[in-house]
Amino acid sequence: CGIVGILGQHEVAPTLVEALKRLEYRGYDSAGIATIDAGKLDRRRAVGKLVNLSDLLVHEPLAGKSGIGHTRWATHGAPSVTNAHPHQAGPVAVVHNGIIENFRELRAELSKDGVEFVTETDTETVVLLTQKYMAEGLGPVDAATKTIARLHGAFALAFLFDGEDDLMIGARKGAPLAVGYGDNEMYLGSDAIALSPMTDRVTYLEEGDRAVLTRTSVKIYDANDAPVDRVVKKISLDT
Ligand code: GLU
Repeated sequence: CGIVGILGQHEVAPTLVEALKRLEYRGYDSAGIATIDAGKLDRRRAVGKLVNLSDLLVHEPLAGKSGIGHTRWATHGAPSVTNAHPHQAGPVAVVHNGIIENFRELRAELSKDGVEFVTETDTETVVLLTQKYMAEGLGPVDAATKTIARLHGAFALAFLFDGEDDLMIGARKGAPLAVGYGDNEMYLGSDAIALSPMTDRVTYLEEGDRAVLTRTSVKIYDANDAPVDRVVKKISLDT
């Protein structure tokens, strides 16, 4: 339901939770964040209000300057910690808004390869497919690109990868996603409101766009996989 992603210069966990608070108005049943610390992905998730996630983070903090966060409004799979985002399979973590409509076909295909499922969500197929393509030898960008091309439905996605502290991938099809530009920082948000405390410069991705971010660069590809320039808009800060 709500997505935020940060490639930052400071510890991101508190900022991710703050950004998720700004998306609370959209409604949600659970929330979670994942960060990369010393090259390793780790995540914390909690059912219910964001304060439950904040409490969990007090007892089990997450370090790291790169992270993604999500507030979930369950469509497939009950609201539970296991079904909460970020989802992770091996080296890849993903947050997702919307519905992957062909997830049953994708699950059937993955099952044939002996892949096992931990959750009841449509989203898990995204991390499992990406993991599979990486295991077959693709790098993270190519694996995510190949995965995104296989997804039907309405979605906004943000990806992070183990060992890739300076890489975040976003994709938009039928659900909004914006890129935010900071000072040697880069952001993703399902809503510019989530990003407004961090930056007033945003690019709203268009249908079918994919964005490959580092702290200092943004490359956007359109639905035909052609590199495109999208306008950077100045939004008014409401702080
Ligand atoms: N379909 C996904 C799920 O049920 C994402 C729902 C959302 O947009 O929060 O986990």
